[in-house]
Amino acid sequence: QILANQIAAGEVVERPASVVKELLENSIDAGSTKIDIIIEESGLKKIQVIDNGEGIASDDVLNAFKRHATSKIHNREDLFRIRSLGFRGEALPSIASVSEVTLETSTGEEGSYLFLSGGVVKEHKAHSLRKGTSITVENIFFNTPARLKYVKTLQTELANIGDVVNRLAMSHPDISFSLTNDGHRMLRTLGSGDLKQAIAGVYGVNTAKKMIEVSGDDLDFKLTGYVSLPEVTRASRNYISLIINGRYIKNFILNKAIVSGYGSKLMVGRFPIAVLSIQMDPLLVDVNVHPTKQEVRLSKEKELITLIETSIAKALGEEIL
Ligand code: ADP
Ligand code: MG
Repeated sequence: QILANQIAAGEVVERPASVVKELLENSIDAGSTKIDIIIEESGLKKIQVIDNGEGIASDDVLNAFKRHATSKIHNREDLFRIRSLGFRGEALPSIASVSEVTLETSTGEEGSYLFLSGGVVKEHKAHSLRKGTSITVENIFFNTPARLKYVKTLQTELANIGDVVNRLAMSHPDISFSLTNDGHRMLRTLGSGDLKQAIAGVYGVNTAKKMIEVSGDDLDFKLTGYVSLPEVTRASRNYISLIINGRYIKNFILNKAIVSGYGSKLMVGRFPIAVLSIQMDPLLVDVNVHPTKQEVRLSKEKELITLIETSIAKALGEEIL
């Protein structure tokens, strides 16, 4: 069982940033409105995620660390209409198998404390706490030295974590996020529900001021979001964020559609800052492509490309006139 979890961990837990992502998605799925992320040494020493979500009932605490023990899929129908972020029931057991995990959780009525090392439960007791969950992951990969080799410099790992938190914060403007590394606050969003305010929390108020609203819809898609004015650019595509049905995704072709919406207004080798949120029937998007669930397959991709290009061109045209 532990070996199987470590193997699964190879897919789910590549680096500290993947742990942050999985923990945050669980906190979001638990209905949290406030999520604090406290890390030390870029997550290699410690990653703690504290939320105010629904908590885990005492009877379910051990189950949460068993493979495929997801509470989120009840039948086949659910699998095709995935709305929650996590659904494989793989993350917690995988993370626990390659680190030391402390869980403190409370439903408001009952609470639990659990400590696991290398996936083995070392301590389990009742615990009182206000409603919510805190999961602390320490000494990641302490028992899988081969995996430690893939960890890059502290700076790179921190940048990866920042990226994950930024994107989740922008896909959930209704949730307040904060990220602290070695005592330094790196990000804070207010959770007001306003996307522009979330963008300001991530990229700064001055950048947010130079972003304009984009919207558009057709039969299948509804698009909203913000893109930067053509003079506000970056040297990489990394500042383009796509959110489909509330889930942050990666899609090279849609990124290209965003850039092409600018026509000839961008300098060569420069890319806009963009945060686009697209609503569609969940049946049109297949999220079950990869365990980390970022790559998606879309039906009607051509229609969506056209909608993105024209909506951006229109927003920029109106702004420039
Ligand atoms: P999945 O998210 O795919 O269901 P995970 O391994 O990530 O699987 O989590 C296992 C289960 O633990 C979840 O289904 C959920 O019931 C519970 N859980 C994990 N984190 C939290 C949290 N922060 N708040 C409430 N429940 C949680
Ligand atoms: Mg999960």
